[in-house]
Amino acid sequence: MTKELLRAIPAVHELLDMDEGRLLAARTSREHARDRLRAALDLVRVEIAAGLLDVDPAELVSAVFGRAASLESHPSLRRVINATGVVLHTNLGRAPLSDRAIRAVSMVAGGYSNLEYDLDAGRRGRRDSHGESVLCDLVGCEAAVVANNNAAAVMLVLNTLASGGEVIVSRGELVEIGGGFRVPEVLERAGCTLREVGTTNRTRVEDYEAAINERTRVLLRVHPSNFRIIGFTSRPDARDLAEVARRHGLPFVDDLGSGCMFDAPSLGLGDETRVADAIAAGADIVTFSGDKLLGGPQAGIITGRAVLVERIRSNPLMRALRVDKMVYAALEATLAAYVEGRATAEIPALRMLAMPVEEIRSRASALAGRIALVAPALRVTLEDGRSVPGAGSAPGIDLPTVLVAIEHPDLPAEALAGRLRTAPTPVIGRIENDRLVLDLRTVPEADEPLLVDALLAAGTPA
Ligand SMILES: *Cc1c(COP(=O)(O)O)cnc(C)c1O
Repeated sequence: MTKELLRAIPAVHELLDMDEGRLLAARTSREHARDRLRAALDLVRVEIAAGLLDVDPAELVSAVFGRAASLESHPSLRRVINATGVVLHTNLGRAPLSDRAIRAVSMVAGGYSNLEYDLDAGRRGRRDSHGESVLCDLVGCEAAVVANNNAAAVMLVLNTLASGGEVIVSRGELVEIGGGFRVPEVLERAGCTLREVGTTNRTRVEDYEAAINERTRVLLRVHPSNFRIIGFTSRPDARDLAEVARRHGLPFVDDLGSGCMFDAPSLGLGDETRVADAIAAGADIVTFSGDKLLGGPQAGIITGRAVLVERIRSNPLMRALRVDKMVYAALEATLAAYVEGRATAEIPALRMLAMPVEEIRSRASALAGRIALVAPALRVTLEDGRSVPGAGSAPGIDLPTVLVAIEHPDLPAEALAGRLRTAPTPVIGRIENDRLVLDLRTVPEADEPLLVDALLAAGTPA
């Protein structure tokens, strides 16, 4: 039967000449169709050899086109299940949006909107004012404007306020944030000269003051996102820096990175500065990401004094770094949850951060039971572990969790993890002590059946 099937496999050119083959080529190109059909034929050959394809030779052609279609339907960007326990995982798209944000996005995405239209006046309006009033209410700033991400926000701010001049930064803050955002390089590209002060572990307010000269344009503070210097350290208080800046008539810019809008200690997230506190401390401009602790879409939010924000708005770079309607929709819906005091109830990232360990334990134990039923070959154990906020938010902080450790009788952890990544909805876990572990803190309950499906397929013999 296997031999008969293998003999019945059609050639690529025969498939291309069939109606379905022509259709496939018409949708894309002949070359593309040929590549897809070749890949589908490879798949079918492997499946036949492994005894997995049990069809009549006459049905083989439709099986090949079926495989080609399924290869076709995988876009490059796909949904995955994040079982790493890293809540704001930069590689996995950072913050999942709230239901309200998703509805807001779909509302503007599928139709027209007043993106740049003034409904009162009935004529062209401004794009760059969406989200401004709610941001001002929330953080107590005079004005706000939104850019593509926080890297863009910092770039815009420095280019507007300090191009051709010097920016004073503490040596302890010349950090590289994941993905190649290096503060010194961003400064240089923004057209500014870096003036380093202090030492890696200690910088005093007098160090800033001593470095100020006629070329100084900005005092910059950067949140040391993905690391923490511990021990003999000091970093001047934002209030003191604001005071020095004011005395010299210079703007003080505070790049917070993570835009925390809630009481971080209450979620066990240490002393992460809230945006409102940074503004209240006297920063003239505060920048932060939309998709870190804020829990919204990718965006860079610039808040602060109206005169400065107005100058930033008029920078021609703003046109290149602006955001689209879907981002404004998601951002305003996310911010609305804060205004209504419903942030921890609505915003997935906050819900995950706030999830009590006992809830994770009971879900983990129910999952272990289900795995034992559907994939008895897998060895499943529960153990205490740690989840992390991720994306450089609250560095050095982690949260207690319960991990589901999974072992395959004859596959190493890496291979088992590889199998989970090839599931129809790929599952990304973590390897710890040579074992694959899954952390349900970052897996929505509704996705657990998909996770079980993936484990079912991964639990087959090697
Ligand atoms: C994350 C971060 C950035 C970059 O923000 P993106 O939104 O990822 O572009 C800049 N500065 C600090 C301090 C950060 O933590």
